[in-house]
Amino acid sequence: MKILLNNNSLFKSLRPFNDLGFVPTMGGIHKGHLSLINKSNKLCKKTIVSIFVNPKQFNNKKDLKSYPRNIKKDLKILKKSKKVNFVYVPKFEDIFKNKKKSKIKLAKKDIILCAKSRKGHFEGVLDVMDKLTKIVNPQKIFMGEKDFQQLYLVKKLLEKKYKTKVVPCKTIRDKNKVALSSRNFLLNRSDLNIASEIYEKIKNIKKNIKNKKNISSFLKLQKKELKNNYKIKIDYLELRNTKDLKISISKKNSKLFIAYYLNNVRLIDNL
Ligand code: AMP
Repeated sequence: MKILLNNNSLFKSLRPFNDLGFVPTMGGIHKGHLSLINKSNKLCKKTIVSIFVNPKQFNNKKDLKSYPRNIKKDLKILKKSKKVNFVYVPKFEDIFKNKKKSKIKLAKKDIILCAKSRKGHFEGVLDVMDKLTKIVNPQKIFMGEKDFQQLYLVKKLLEKKYKTKVVPCKTIRDKNKVALSSRNFLLNRSDLNIASEIYEKIKNIKKNIKNKKNISSFLKLQKKELKNNYKIKIDYLELRNTKDLKISISKKNSKLFIAYYLNNVRLIDNL
């Protein structure tokens, strides 16, 4: 496993390879990331993982500051997996060397879910993914369905602009069914128990949707109940179509999306 600390060493090392799978991450490596790496390892000759906490996608300074960082531990896990050929650990300048402001703007119809509650977040994500794809030039990029809206927006942008293919990967959960996330490192046992209970609740809510004539008012009520029962802030609880992320009026081809706060940590999930 070769560690690439700047673009020069990246360009030199990657030049011979034309079947490259790319797994972009912000570190805090967990089994969710490893599942993406496994898939890349199966479908591509070489796998490169990037670790970069992108300040541009944080709409909240405190969140950026507290984001879990442990590069030594991350490198150890990646090496142990024996599935990673290259790890790219760029500096801010390697990616955003020309300080020009990003021209990326979301279409009005895409300002929903996290885009509505985290202003500027996806502009930051799309900007970094655009730059990373240009630098790494991979054949395939592996991304998790846990961040479904991110996957949807990145796929739409990159597959139009580059030859690369964005490959969706299933959400990996812990034994209590909580979706794995680097942010879970910021939660204590009792928070994780609540997250597990909330998973069961939303699973039930989704199950019960088929019987409801008016989905939107049913979900509004469920959201209120969750909010009151767990004393949590909920950004959204919405059923949306997986093709275009429009609000759904039936369960077909749809996912139930939630974003909520536990102990000031923002968690998202979809099922
Ligand atoms: P992050 O480091 O949180 O930016 O995530 C890097 C990539 O890993 C993104 O494509 C995420 O969607 C994906 N990912 C994060 N958590 C999970 C999970 N629990 N299951 C599958 N993929 C995940």
